[in-house]
Amino acid sequence: MKGKEAAGEREDHGPERVLGESISKLNLILSTMKDSRYSDGLMEAWGIARDSTESKIMEERLSTLNLYGLKLNSADTLQEIYELTLDAMEQTLGFEQASFLVVDGSKFRIVGNRGYMSHLSVALPLDGSKGGITVKVARTHKPVLVLDTSRDDDYVEGIPGIRSELAVPVETKDKTVGVLNVESKKLAAFDEKDMTLLQILAWHAATATRNLEMRRELEKRSSQLSLLLKSSTRMISSTDISQRLKTVAEAIRALGWRRVVISVRDEEMEIAYPEDIVTAGLTDEEIEFLWNKKPPGQVWRERFGPEYDRFKIGEFYHLPWSDPWVRKRFSDTTVPSKLEAEAMVDWDPQDLLYAPLRLADGRIVGVLSIDDPLDGRRPTKESMAPLELFIHQAAVAVENALLIRDLNEARKQLKADAELSESKVEERTRELRKSQKQLLRAQRLVAMGELARMVGHDLRNPLTGIAGATYYLKSKLDSKKDGKAKEMLRLIEQDIGYSNKIINDLLEYSGEMRLELGRFTLKPILEEAMVLAKVPKNVKVVCLTKKCPKMKADVEKMKRVFVNVIRNAVDAMPSGGKLTIRSRKSEGFVEVSFADTGVGISKDVLERIWAPLFTTKAKGMGLGLSICKRVVKAHGGTISVESEVGKGTTFTVTVAIEPKIEGGEKVWVTMPESSSLMMKRA
Ligand code: ADP
Repeated sequence: MKGKEAAGEREDHGPERVLGESISKLNLILSTMKDSRYSDGLMEAWGIARDSTESKIMEERLSTLNLYGLKLNSADTLQEIYELTLDAMEQTLGFEQASFLVVDGSKFRIVGNRGYMSHLSVALPLDGSKGGITVKVARTHKPVLVLDTSRDDDYVEGIPGIRSELAVPVETKDKTVGVLNVESKKLAAFDEKDMTLLQILAWHAATATRNLEMRRELEKRSSQLSLLLKSSTRMISSTDISQRLKTVAEAIRALGWRRVVISVRDEEMEIAYPEDIVTAGLTDEEIEFLWNKKPPGQVWRERFGPEYDRFKIGEFYHLPWSDPWVRKRFSDTTVPSKLEAEAMVDWDPQDLLYAPLRLADGRIVGVLSIDDPLDGRRPTKESMAPLELFIHQAAVAVENALLIRDLNEARKQLKADAELSESKVEERTRELRKSQKQLLRAQRLVAMGELARMVGHDLRNPLTGIAGATYYLKSKLDSKKDGKAKEMLRLIEQDIGYSNKIINDLLEYSGEMRLELGRFTLKPILEEAMVLAKVPKNVKVVCLTKKCPKMKADVEKMKRVFVNVIRNAVDAMPSGGKLTIRSRKSEGFVEVSFADTGVGISKDVLERIWAPLFTTKAKGMGLGLSICKRVVKAHGGTISVESEVGKGTTFTVTVAIEPKIEGGEKVWVTMPESSSLMMKRA
């Protein structure tokens, strides 16, 4: 090498100075001894001296390089490595300009230079048609020595006047990561030895770069692991599933991803609850897009299936957009990336990266999708290693949270069930008590009915006898003026009437009811009822029923209802009063009201008047109103009461003009209260 010559005006120092001095000394000796007979020997001596000087220089240059090698290995930044390398080049080689270029994805960047290269473009495309010597080196991975640039086709003129160039690749393992380049304005300024030196320097720079990267990677890993460790603790400190997922998502985001989506899935890979999907780093717009395009469980089952095995990097699936198959399948499902084009190295904004949250037994409890790596790089097995560890932990955390949720739900359900069954038990007890009461009552009524039938029949005959005898005595006494005897006979007749009513009520109430439907107008039936009720003279009856339609009902039974109500009214007015009977038609119904001016009914009595056997009368049976209710109900109608103590009572019977009674004209109504009113066909 011709350091001094090539460097031109630069100061002599180091090996160049030694070489220069030795050569001039040798030349002097050579010229004075030119003609000497020893000249051959001297020439030989000069050769030896020159060789030994050059090897000494070489040695010195090598030791300079080694020194730089040491310095390079303790460099803390890549830029420091570039600058130290250029310093070493400056110390050991002569040049007009030197540069350090690195391969960055598909580009070639000048990261440091010496001389006047600042005007050169910072990035060169690696696949450009004509990239010059440096690009050739990067492509071929071989050093190139150009002794005369004007004779080299690959040379691209940068700075005018450059005549020779030397470039060597900076290589790690099997790939070229950069190029060291020196250029001179002199022809053949560099030789093979320079090339060797530059290669040694490139090796030092490559080693230093790799070491620095490894150191950084280690630091990154350790900070990632400590971050994940912290997140793991935070993750399990919450029992809430969304909270856990959020912690997981945020931890992953902190590892250098812009967008993270985690969803909990059931066996069908479906999302069971809306809160089971959690995102980190997504905008509202992106979340909406994601939610709308959310693929069904079936699609996710496929994505973890054998068809996708070729995309696997450990547990992760990386689907590169450059793959036509991926592009075809996913054209409308990926959320558009927000990454800047410059921030990307080899990651495509449309690339997909996802992994199952898988438990040790192989069950998948969720899906993790991540996107937009902040370093713009595609994932590798190494870069995904910490995440891989973490997703197993996340899967367990999700499973535990799911179990806790199930447990809580089961607990809640159990509590609700217990409360329900408690109230159900209470309700059932109440119902049981009620039906037990009803049963007892029904049994009593059945027994009473049996008894009533027997007694009724047995009593009817003697009563008929008594009535006949009374009639005879009355006719015999008619001509005589025995007032007392006549009064006695009237009392006997009245009591026969009471007894008959009791027998009739008993028989009526205890037996099955058979409706025989017929048509009638209200007014004449009411008049008959008034006669049958034997309204005394001190009670004035006002019947305000005029235009009443023809209605369909069991005439005799409806008459009995009216008789009962009128008789009760009469009983309520022992010292006389007024009974007003009104009727009116409304929407297919006829409403008949009986308003008396009697004693009225107190509130507590009012609640019980419909119950069978309830009476406030000395000679009452307490069956009248029960029978009324039963008859009216059998017609599909209602009977109600309003009363004011001291003022009077109004009973209102409402029945349909055309009642819709199942069973047609003849209807059987079963025993009351042995069951609720049941009807059967005649
Ligand atoms: P009974 O007439 O045999 O007592 P009911 O079932 O017909 O049986 O009547 C039950 C009770 O209702 C009567 O004892 C009476 O206390 C009350 N009651 C019915 N109608 C009237 C009325 N118009 N005014 C006052 N109390 C009445």
